[in-house]
Amino acid sequence: MTTGKRDPRYDPLFEPLKIGPVTAPNRFYQVPHCSGMGYRRPQMMAAMRGMKAAGGWGVVCTEYCSIHPSSDDMPYPHASLWDESDVEKLRLMTDAVHEHGALAGVQLWYGGRSTVNLYTREPAFGVNSLPNTAKQGMPLQTKAMTVDDIKTLKGWYQAAAKRAVAANFDIVYVYANHEYLLHDFLSTSINSREDAYGGSVENRVRLIREIIEETRTTVGHRCAVAVRYSIPRDVNDDPDELIKMFGIIAELPDLWDITVNDYNWEMGSSRFVKEASNQVAVAKIKSMTSKPVVSVGRFTSPDTMLKQITSGVQDFIGAARPSIADPFIPQKINQGRLDDIRECIGCNVCYAHNSLGSPIRCTQNPTMGEEWRKGWHADRVPERHANESVLIIGAGPAGLEAACTLGQRGYDVTLAEAQTTLGGRVTEESQLPGFAEWARVRDWRLGQIAKMPNVMVYLDNRLDADAVLELEHQHVMVATGSTWRNDGVGRWLTTPFDGADSPTVYSVENVLKGSIPTSDSQNNHVIIYDDDHYYISAAIALKLRAEGIAVTLVTPEGRVGSWSYYTEEQYGSMAVLVEAGVNVVSNQGLISWNGSAATIQCVFSQVESTISADTLIPITAKLPNDQLWLDLQSRQDEFHSNNGLSMQLIGDGSTPGLIAAAVYSGHKAARELGLPDNEKNSGRRDTTIINFP
Ligand code: ADP
Ligand code: SF4
Repeated sequence: MTTGKRDPRYDPLFEPLKIGPVTAPNRFYQVPHCSGMGYRRPQMMAAMRGMKAAGGWGVVCTEYCSIHPSSDDMPYPHASLWDESDVEKLRLMTDAVHEHGALAGVQLWYGGRSTVNLYTREPAFGVNSLPNTAKQGMPLQTKAMTVDDIKTLKGWYQAAAKRAVAANFDIVYVYANHEYLLHDFLSTSINSREDAYGGSVENRVRLIREIIEETRTTVGHRCAVAVRYSIPRDVNDDPDELIKMFGIIAELPDLWDITVNDYNWEMGSSRFVKEASNQVAVAKIKSMTSKPVVSVGRFTSPDTMLKQITSGVQDFIGAARPSIADPFIPQKINQGRLDDIRECIGCNVCYAHNSLGSPIRCTQNPTMGEEWRKGWHADRVPERHANESVLIIGAGPAGLEAACTLGQRGYDVTLAEAQTTLGGRVTEESQLPGFAEWARVRDWRLGQIAKMPNVMVYLDNRLDADAVLELEHQHVMVATGSTWRNDGVGRWLTTPFDGADSPTVYSVENVLKGSIPTSDSQNNHVIIYDDDHYYISAAIALKLRAEGIAVTLVTPEGRVGSWSYYTEEQYGSMAVLVEAGVNVVSNQGLISWNGSAATIQCVFSQVESTISADTLIPITAKLPNDQLWLDLQSRQDEFHSNNGLSMQLIGDGSTPGLIAAAVYSGHKAARELGLPDNEKNSGRRDTTIINFP
């Protein structure tokens, strides 16, 4: 319910708190997170972080910020503080954050084993000489650090800390987790040094202790010193004695930013990890220090946030993904607009794009990454350009987002949906095992639309071109989605396989709508052929296994769901497939189906083999549902003579893909309605390049 003012229950979330020499205005803390912007797109980065501060986050941090050219993560655009030009670039961000009264934090980073320095070609320092862990196992090892190298590294750290002060940061991080160099020093299995920096807990934590102390000297009373540190999820199973080492340095920094030692968990997809999942480990740490503690937990519920603070588990509500999905969470809580909070669905599409070296984007928040490029605000849209009406056909993510945004702009909107339910693919997919949170894409938009008297929704209304023309709206947006094809055409096969018309070939839609025969009626073994490589094949396999059906998953890739590597789901997904007893056959493409057996071919040797089964479900690509659009295109004259002004095809009906792309497409169409064509552009290019590509 929207009340316009804060429920006093949430007051503890808005109490200022000192972090050493600086004071955070409230308890909302955007922890460091990747943006795919960094040194390469500093204007975009500044505007994106500034938007978080505008939304009420009391602390806003950078992504990982390299301290020296020997820690270069090309092709990923991290931030950097190598020289004066970096100071200038990062000042754009600190200015944007300070403008809204928030504190700006910088996460000083040295990669070690995780970098191969493709741009600078400098050797990466390592605790020992070990193979790098990045770039698909590129044959390159780290340089084992001598004691002189350790001194050099500390010098680089302090030079970067000085630049951080010059760039006007308020919080300077010592980054000691995520398997980067400082973390390696802590590890018994990686740190095999026999000098004063290896062996005992005192020795393994020595470098971090020294860097914290030296950073404090460098930044003086101008900045707080924060440490990012991780401990095991199970605090009773701590082979590296991270908790003991924490005890040695517990009182040294001004703030602890705590995570768990398992990135698949910390950054877990909502399929496997739920809200507030790190908090046992965080509570342990909190009990060992008098310093403020921040931690993430994909917090989206104000009550869960409040509980963290009032129960004393942590002092700040750390957020990366929730602040990406909704940069205005703090302001919405403050204004009593709880039902306006756009909750993260935990799909990790944001992270995937950073991993692709591109600016992040978000399934829930189509404005993410577009704050500077397109000047899009995360909570406001321009008013309608004229008193005109819009008909949207199809209430999937594209249609719902368009309706929501156009409604917010003040247009008269009619949304027609063929089915008796709203949400399109999101409604279907969110019923798959583990995907319940994805329904938030539908539910947030429905919640917004319900408050808009200018948006009318009609269910069970399949429109054809005659109906669309009869309705005489000035603008028409066709959001009719797409349908999974079942003829095998995709990446590996570009023409249908022999036997694609067999009655024992089913599609994803058949499974989602529950219309494939179950095991009781002779469907004991299903082959899923996955040439899609994201989540749907694994999800369908698990659904069928839960129904007692034997599943063989065949893929031309080396692992199932190869693209879900980017969303940090692949390991979790493989683990549950193995656990569920799904038989995985990799590196095999589909050749044909004879009604009871598939012929498959090794992608390397071309050797063929067969697998018998009752049913084949090929999952390879989608067909846009664009017939209505094509019909309307052929009747454009009629449309225009009835005062029709514009027609657009949006979402999967145009270009099937990620839900994030459909939402973005609906948003862009709605936000730009009424703009002259020359202002509907693909965004400015951030060319603020000073001395690094
Ligand atoms: P997107 O991801 O692009 O939003 P979806 O496939 O999720 O696409 O949703 C498309 C929606 O459009 C579905 O709910 C579907 O029932 C609806 N739809 C398709 N054709 C029509 C039509 N002719 N009239 C009304 N609704 C339609
Ligand atoms: Fe959350 Fe997905 Fe948006 Fe990332 S992309 S913030 S995981 S909704």
